[in-house]
Amino acid sequence: VNRSVEQEFVETFFGNVGHCATVCNATIGLVLAVRMMMDEHWGTARRRRTPRYALMPSFTFAAAAQAALWNGLTPLLCDIEPDTWLPSLCAQEELLDRFRGEVAVVVPYATFGNNLDLTAYADLSARHAVPVVVDAAASLGSCEDEGRQFGACSAFPIVYSMHVTKTFSAGEAGLVYSADAKQIDRLRCMTNFGFGEPRCATMPGLNGKLSEVGALLCREKLRELDALVTHREDLALVYREQLPGLRFQAMRGVRHAYQFMPALLPPHVQSATVVDRLADAGVMVRTYFSPHLAEQPFFRANSVHFDLRVTEDVASRIISLPLYDGMTRRDVTAICARVHGVLAEWPTRLEVAAG
Ligand SMILES: *Cc1c(COP(=O)(O)O)cnc(C)c1O
Repeated sequence: VNRSVEQEFVETFFGNVGHCATVCNATIGLVLAVRMMMDEHWGTARRRRTPRYALMPSFTFAAAAQAALWNGLTPLLCDIEPDTWLPSLCAQEELLDRFRGEVAVVVPYATFGNNLDLTAYADLSARHAVPVVVDAAASLGSCEDEGRQFGACSAFPIVYSMHVTKTFSAGEAGLVYSADAKQIDRLRCMTNFGFGEPRCATMPGLNGKLSEVGALLCREKLRELDALVTHREDLALVYREQLPGLRFQAMRGVRHAYQFMPALLPPHVQSATVVDRLADAGVMVRTYFSPHLAEQPFFRANSVHFDLRVTEDVASRIISLPLYDGMTRRDVTAICARVHGVLAEWPTRLEVAAG
């Protein structure tokens, strides 16, 4: 089932270009893809000379930083763009210059299913001679241009999650795509104890295989994904229309697999209070990604970071509003009414200024 699902992904999502390997979850996919690209780029024999940093945004999930640390790398955390919340290309250029020769891998995050500019990363990778692994955890169903899954044709690995919190939800599962057959062959061996020959380890590995039952769930989800993405985009539009007082993510590309509805509260509003008040009103809201990586004790002690001004602003104001497959436009309207009710507790800036 696994092999046929991998083939189905290549055919239906990636326009029959490239290769896919399923994994038990995206975190293991990131751990292995980072290791695979380090070995490919820096060589397995010269491991002691491998540089020490993994460059990634601070505004992402813990999995990326853990994947770096499991590979003996220190996360080097960069800032994000103020509108798209994607990792800042400027900040990454600056850090790659500053830590020239010390960055082993760049791990950008396609924030909340937004479409990263992969051409820019191919260019950055070539100019700085550094490999790239994309954390596209929430991107199955997102398209940069018409009809083509985000990541299609990428020459470096793109790691997707099919965790239950993502739009492509199959319980616990992940997928790694690359246009480069060698990368996916090697990654598949790495998920299978590093067996490059029958029952014989030829490379580092662990057990990262997706179960056959997990693969069956993926196959079912494949059939309905298109309709689910369309439905979620419609609900996202209602949120955007009905909450003009909040700031929403600026989206690149033509299609977005919204996993929930992230939004920024006005600066004078305390987000923790909003979360509590909405919970009292029966609406469960989360705050992805607050705390961001540099704010979490383990990563603060085991990472390097400088200016994170935009990350700090976005993380302090972000809330993740509910979005789910069975939701209706009326549900969204009901939630928006409660958000309006809660926000009414804060006088607007003009009222404050007027005393
Ligand atoms: C969900 C998520 C992951 C982890 O995916 P799993 O399949 O749960 O391991 C990694 N990175 C980001 C940004 C995510 O949102």
